[in-house]
Amino acid sequence: KTQQYFRPTKAMIDLQAIQQNVKNLKEFLQPNVQIIAVVKANAYGHGDVAVARAALEAGATILAVATPDEALHIRAHFEEPDILILGASPVSFAPYAAQQRIILTAFASDWIQQAAPLLVNEELPLRLHIKVDSGMGRLGIRSEQELVELYETIQSTANVELDGIFTHFATADEENSTHFNQQVQFFEKCLSVMPLKPRLVHASNTAASLVKNSHLQYDAVRYGISLYGLSPSPYVESILPFPLKPAFSLESELVHVKQIKAGESVGYGATFTAQTETWIGTIPIGYADGVIRKLGGQEVLVDGQKVPIVGRICMDQCMVALPKAYAIGEKVTLIGQQGQHVISIDEWATKLETINYEIPCIITARVPRIYF
Ligand code: PLP
Repeated sequence: KTQQYFRPTKAMIDLQAIQQNVKNLKEFLQPNVQIIAVVKANAYGHGDVAVARAALEAGATILAVATPDEALHIRAHFEEPDILILGASPVSFAPYAAQQRIILTAFASDWIQQAAPLLVNEELPLRLHIKVDSGMGRLGIRSEQELVELYETIQSTANVELDGIFTHFATADEENSTHFNQQVQFFEKCLSVMPLKPRLVHASNTAASLVKNSHLQYDAVRYGISLYGLSPSPYVESILPFPLKPAFSLESELVHVKQIKAGESVGYGATFTAQTETWIGTIPIGYADGVIRKLGGQEVLVDGQKVPIVGRICMDQCMVALPKAYAIGEKVTLIGQQGQHVISIDEWATKLETINYEIPCIITARVPRIYF
């Protein structure tokens, strides 16, 4: 049964755009290279279950998340596909991962030794992917010696199985490839000292896959931002091999419209004062929805025109200056397209001095995700 929402504020998620992106990405890859759909953080704020379903239907075969709780949420909805947790999991999660066939990231021999006693009664082995820190400085082994030690610990521990090895690039979205190439070299060296190649070698994120060397496809690629139709950076955007289709838009409606006189003000602090008679519309969306106060002055679309948010953004509402009177219920697009105009996630990212990844993530759970 679908939940009913009474407030007109909603994020509209275009699942066909996600499927088109996955299909284009798949076509771009060599045959037999698997797509790992990165659906962590509620699928970058788009909704993990719906996005995972769309991505699997369109050709992704593995799902990746950041945390044990995200993995369990996905597993509750999908029995079959492999799920990989990219982050560090607590040792206490090891038996749950084994039972639920959730693959964990291995980056320290100690962790394996601590998990071993918790796994003795498990029917299924715990599957692991070794993480190589080739230059991200986040998680992973940092020398060949550490790799061999971790490999041997895994091989000599009952009920754990080495299923993969991977790394993550820090600068794949930049034009300069110096650091990137050093990372590739170290990862390749690590692969060459592995006594046996595990089932899945993977390295590339969206940027590495789309604009760096294609031999880095290995057995799988991890696609996040491109699934959602966004580019990892302006540099990648400028040389994309095919267009990406954004899936996220943010919509509401005018709930109140009035004309204020010259000299009258709007909002907390009375920071906006009308110079002449001005039509003001109120939108039921505010900083508790992720439309943070720093977005003051940002334009939204009403009747195919760009109109500015005026005054301070409140917790649940904000106000816009309108060119004329509009009826209650007039559609407002905060992110997305109306007629000729588009307000993109990238525009918000520029305004907020951040990256596009952060924008759908900060739209809070109070905003329902509606799929079409
Ligand atoms: N792999 C790892 C380890 C990640 O942390 C991420 C996301 O940050 C991705 C892959 C996906 O990267 P992107 O969204 O740039 O494709």
